[in-house]
Amino acid sequence: MGGEHLSKEKLVEAVEREFPGRVSKDETTLKLYSRDYWPLALLRETRGEALPRPLLVVWPESAEEVSKLVKLCNEYRVPFVPYAGGSGVIGGTMCEGCVVIDVKRMNRILRFSEEDALVVVESGVMLKKLEEYLNSKGFTLRHIPQSFPEAAVGGLIATMSTGQFSTKYGGIEELVMDLEVVAPDGGIVPLRRNIVPRAATGPELKRLFIGSEGQLGIITKAVLKVFPLPEHQWKNAYAFPDFESGLRAVREMMLTGAVPAVARLYDKDDSAARFHDARDTLILVFEENSKEILNAKVSEARRIVAKHGGKEVGAAPVDKWLETRFDVISELKKLVVPLNLWFDTIETAATWSALPKVYRAFKDRVKRVKGVYAVLAHASHFYTTGACIYFTLTYEADEQTYWRMWEEAMRTLLETGATISHHHGVGLLRAKWVAEELGAGLQYLKKVKRCLDPQGLANPGKWMGD
Ligand SMILES: Cc1cc2nc3c(=O)[nH]c(=O)nc-3n(C[C@H](O)[C@H](O)[C@H](O)COP(=O)(O)OP(=O)(O)OC[C@H]3O[C@@H](n4cnc5c(N)ncnc54)[C@H](O)[C@@H]3O)c2cc1C
Repeated sequence: MGGEHLSKEKLVEAVEREFPGRVSKDETTLKLYSRDYWPLALLRETRGEALPRPLLVVWPESAEEVSKLVKLCNEYRVPFVPYAGGSGVIGGTMCEGCVVIDVKRMNRILRFSEEDALVVVESGVMLKKLEEYLNSKGFTLRHIPQSFPEAAVGGLIATMSTGQFSTKYGGIEELVMDLEVVAPDGGIVPLRRNIVPRAATGPELKRLFIGSEGQLGIITKAVLKVFPLPEHQWKNAYAFPDFESGLRAVREMMLTGAVPAVARLYDKDDSAARFHDARDTLILVFEENSKEILNAKVSEARRIVAKHGGKEVGAAPVDKWLETRFDVISELKKLVVPLNLWFDTIETAATWSALPKVYRAFKDRVKRVKGVYAVLAHASHFYTTGACIYFTLTYEADEQTYWRMWEEAMRTLLETGATISHHHGVGLLRAKWVAEELGAGLQYLKKVKRCLDPQGLANPGKWMGD
């Protein structure tokens, strides 16, 4: 124990020497970095409870500097955790006694190619800044999560995030062409020699780091696909007889190629809370650069919606959603805190055949957990094979209720054929249930981790364990 303490002190000295003016261990900074947006951490903080304190925070400015820092951590056997926007909701950046490696000073946009429709960036660039830059060139990443103003590229890739326009453009995994990563031993895994749309030269290494939550290395650069800003847009909303018929309508759109940019199917409870209309409501946004393609897709979508019993309600719900889509946490807090309630969200995905069961069982079982107040649901992020369902939960603001609710939720998802996470990731929150979802596959991932990170220093205790 004494040795560990000494080695931490020596590391702090070495880091302060190597990164003068870019290291902080003052109380205010450490407190700021002691949590992300995990609702349980927010609840604990509100109650004045202790959160895990990092050892210090460092702001490197290049992959070489990240490498130097990681090598120091290895030399003194001190764990480290990468940090980007800090907007994660699973405790992914929370790490007692760790060196926080904040990539936000690595925020340059290195190259934009209109002809190749790609951009090369450092991983600390904020998503909003990148999108504004691309818009000024007539382009877009079209990756717009609700955390759009807070998240940075490295964190988005490390959590395998998805955005509101994913039904047309895909999640972040579809947008990443290549990555530069500092491995947990400090070695730099560079971008490939030539950036190409596809290559059959073995499994793509980039896939190992997408969704790795800082446990397999630190992403320092990314090559991302971009798209011309869409010139034509169409939006409308429809009420369905029930949630299942709305799902069937979107399934048919996906399989016939009438793919919307945004599709969000709110169940009665969610629709009542958001639009003051207690009907299962589907909002649709189509966008294209050709008016002819847009018209053809919209007319096909309208035919499909009518076939499944959808009735037009006009664009007002879409406008409401567009106006309020980033105000999530502040809005929820306003509603729940006066009632001594708290909130969380649980996102999952399943194939079409399983979705109705997942939806009904989740609502029914989780609502019956003692202390749970409301379970709202909407489906978003659609695929040809299925969709994501996003549950918003309110419950009595205490930790026992919280874990009872999560236990029942995770059991229900595993038993009904769904995943325990569609896009928020595992972090500290879901680590307990990962083995049940991945089975023996997790052992092989752990072997990869041990190979890359023999001392187990990269963001310990998260999805893969230590
Ligand atoms: C209000 C709100 C709305 C949200 N909406 C969405 C949504 O619509 N879709 C969605 O997918 N998520 C959403 N999230 C969750 C969160 O914003 C995403 O997970 C986002 O990808 C996190 O990015 P970040 O830059 O803030 O990462 P951080 O919180 O800084 O880090 C997240 C994880 O990635 C690791 N990490 C960070 N940087 C690196 C790096 N350079 N290399 C390797 N690992 C790294 C961290 O160690 C941590 O484990 C939302 C969160 C909030 C608070």
